[in-house]
Amino acid sequence: MSYIKETIEKLKQTSPAQVEFYQAVEDVLESIEPLLEERPKYREHSIIERLLEPERQIMFRVPWMDDDGKIQVNKGYRIEFNSALGPYKGGLRFHPSVNAGIVKFLGFEQIFKNALTGLPIGGGKGGANFDPKGKSDAEIMRFCQSFMSELYRHIGPHTDVPAGDIGVGSREIGYLFGQYKRLANRFDGVLTGKSELWGGSQVRKEATGYGVVYFAQCMMDDQDDSLDGKRCLISGSGNVAIHAMEKLYELGAKPISCSDSSGTIYHDSGIDLDLVKRIKEEQGGRLKEYLETHEDAEYTSKDDYPEEGHCVWRYEADIAFPCATQNELTEKDAQALLENGCKYIVEGANMPTTQAAVDLFIESGVGYGPGKASNAGGVATSQLEMAQNASMLRWDFEEVDEKLKDIMSNIYQDAKRTAEDFGHPSNLVLGANIAGFRKVADAMLEQGVV
Ligand code: NDP
Repeated sequence: MSYIKETIEKLKQTSPAQVEFYQAVEDVLESIEPLLEERPKYREHSIIERLLEPERQIMFRVPWMDDDGKIQVNKGYRIEFNSALGPYKGGLRFHPSVNAGIVKFLGFEQIFKNALTGLPIGGGKGGANFDPKGKSDAEIMRFCQSFMSELYRHIGPHTDVPAGDIGVGSREIGYLFGQYKRLANRFDGVLTGKSELWGGSQVRKEATGYGVVYFAQCMMDDQDDSLDGKRCLISGSGNVAIHAMEKLYELGAKPISCSDSSGTIYHDSGIDLDLVKRIKEEQGGRLKEYLETHEDAEYTSKDDYPEEGHCVWRYEADIAFPCATQNELTEKDAQALLENGCKYIVEGANMPTTQAAVDLFIESGVGYGPGKASNAGGVATSQLEMAQNASMLRWDFEEVDEKLKDIMSNIYQDAKRTAEDFGHPSNLVLGANIAGFRKVADAMLEQGVV
């Protein structure tokens, strides 16, 4: 059995039932095989074995009282995965599907994504199996306060700096920060994604979605192609999806779909983004309400779509942007996209594409931007927020946006150059994994056996 296969088998025994984590590990380890041959030192120094074991995993009880006076209990997590390049950095996810394996896969991905940004940040992730849907504002606040009552002792501006993810937006960051400040008696840059009124950065809210589109632009520039007039499929209707659609419109492309966990909207003449913002951001509603304004749009409820994956990928378009959640684009979806002439798939979500679908994209030679590289704009701008907090300065919107554009272009060039150096010029998965891994591995070698 090869070293990589053996390592994955061992991982399955020592970390049972963490399927998403195995998937993320396999993706990285299979890509870096040529690098391991070139640099035997990594194996001699057990870099992979050390990388697979988080430096620290914190699991804690989150008790809180609902509006009926009943005590509820959730599971809280923070995985401080790797600090070779800087303080742990990565978001918090509040969603009922969160468990130790999901947080671990997200934390593992984060290590290499953060390395790719070229900024001094390590990898971490956290969250809770808490479902914010249908909760009152007071319940959300009590939950966040209870979550932070344990987390605050583990984080700090030079230790671990969480941010948002699914279910954690600026409201939750506000409640989490308020409780941190109260317990620690310190006003410091311990969270990113903060309100601009008290230390947040311009463009942080938009950064992941904008960054995904900037990354797509880099891929297309290389093919003498452009976003102008392109029909785009988007899944999700949260932070990443909304800001990706906003930037697509700005650059002349046309988003024709979006979705939430209940169903998908397809609107051939172009998604009415102001309406989506009103339904999802202001009213916390369901996308189905879109039909009340636009009778010519189509809505497919998740219950009416029997297959795994997402019906959004069955429409005809030039580019697909999965921006909802993990494994939402299956092999069959990939086949449908290719048959319908889709030329680029650029990931906004983390690991939205199953391994079989990724393999299909790579084989077909279509442009495929893996999330680890293409959605790194969010964490990169978080680091810019940390830099502004540390220097007590504020940069304007244009300045941060320019930095974000440069970072996305550098990530693309780094992944592309590395893929070329290893003889697979169009394989950005291999390029991104090797480029990210190499930085972390070299830093670990320099820091000795820790
Ligand atoms: P949000 O919570 O703002 O939005 C998530 C969207 O995806 C919502 O429309 C939600 O629907 C939908 N969704 C969530 N789970 C499912 C599911 N199981 N099936 C179908 N739809 C689902 O999260 P973000 O936009 O911040 O995050 C989206 C993705 O991007 C995640 O994979 C996240 O890890 C990744 N990401 C986010 C970054 C950020 O800066 N926010 C940075 C890098 C990556 P509903 O409204 O019904 O809940």
